[in-house]
Amino acid sequence: MLPFIRSDLAQLNAYKPHPGSDTTAAVPTQLDRLDTNESPYDLPSELKQKLAWTYQEVIETNRYPDGGHEALKNAIAQYVNESAGLSTSLCTADNISVGNGSDELIRSLLIATCLQGEGSILVANPTFSMYGILAKTLGIPVVTVSRNPSNFEIDLNAAQSAIENTQHPPIRVVFVVHPNSPTANPLTSSELAWIKSLSEQVLVVIDEAYFEFSQTTLVNELAQRPNWIILRTFSKAFRLAAMRVGYCIAHPEAIAILEKVRLPYNLPSFSIAAALIALQNRQILLDSIPQTLNERTKLIAALSQQPALQVIDSAANFIFVRLKPEIADSQNISLKHLHQHLKNQGTLIREISGGLRITIGTPEENLRTLNRIQAYLVNSHTNSL
Ligand SMILES: *Cc1c(COP(=O)(O)O)cnc(C)c1O
Repeated sequence: MLPFIRSDLAQLNAYKPHPGSDTTAAVPTQLDRLDTNESPYDLPSELKQKLAWTYQEVIETNRYPDGGHEALKNAIAQYVNESAGLSTSLCTADNISVGNGSDELIRSLLIATCLQGEGSILVANPTFSMYGILAKTLGIPVVTVSRNPSNFEIDLNAAQSAIENTQHPPIRVVFVVHPNSPTANPLTSSELAWIKSLSEQVLVVIDEAYFEFSQTTLVNELAQRPNWIILRTFSKAFRLAAMRVGYCIAHPEAIAILEKVRLPYNLPSFSIAAALIALQNRQILLDSIPQTLNERTKLIAALSQQPALQVIDSAANFIFVRLKPEIADSQNISLKHLHQHLKNQGTLIREISGGLRITIGTPEENLRTLNRIQAYLVNSHTNSL
């Protein structure tokens, strides 16, 4: 350990970036990348051409980007109003802050609330790992509670007791994902009632990364909830994972704090232009959502036919699958082998939290996934020995 580095960082592992840093020579070159919940579709070429034109004719690479993000914040506010059925004036640019991916916003939120020993965070596992990882890099304590193993509802008794009993420092931020990753379930009415019951001393971050797939949002609540912040991203339904653009929606006072904390030129001009083009052409991009939802229904139905699998209902563009232990054990089926089998065949999925998380891809990809899983299960008693 380098002697000038904070001692608590020695125990931390770096987040393993996707894709591909762990792909081995044995893996086919044609990969179905169903491990990071991106859209299977690139930006359509007509939109790429618009972006290329903007790059050619408008962006001056010698100039700093627009550090105030005014145009982008206005366009986002309009989209938020439209998508939540709000009257146009409710959400404005003053309710929006933009980040280099939602990851940056998560870090800014942590800096603004918990640093200097002032706060801990609460997460319910399994959930998106970045909250805990980013908190730890900042020396912020992470309090974890579990979820009901059958419906993945947060253990609300444990969560409430953690809020009441955590001291030095107290819990300042609760992170929830709506719908959750990797388990794909939206917030239940009990979870919603619980986050509503929290004191205004506690910031509630509701991560709606999968909003376009779930079509459920808590944006309508924000006017009455100064201690809530909603996170969204362009990395999933808007097909811009490569561009790193996320945003949050909140009370103007909370936004003003985030604007203080962020780096002045956090978004490259090219990313700002891409997000604007995606929003201006959102109808084209969001037109693929019904197909994804339909593919999800088909994949869930087909995998549910397998006696060894338990498929969880999903409100997102991915599904979570577990093994039924008695059947799996008797047939020598394991998550690890199934995951490896798929990888050998060129299908990348995520083995996580005692299950498999599979992104819904193109119809062709989903069919290959299904066939490969079925082939593994049929042959499992022979091929795993
Ligand atoms: C994918 C995802 C994000 C997106 O993160 P970016 O940094 O915007 O790419 C945020 N939250 C959750 C829960 C996600 O699954």
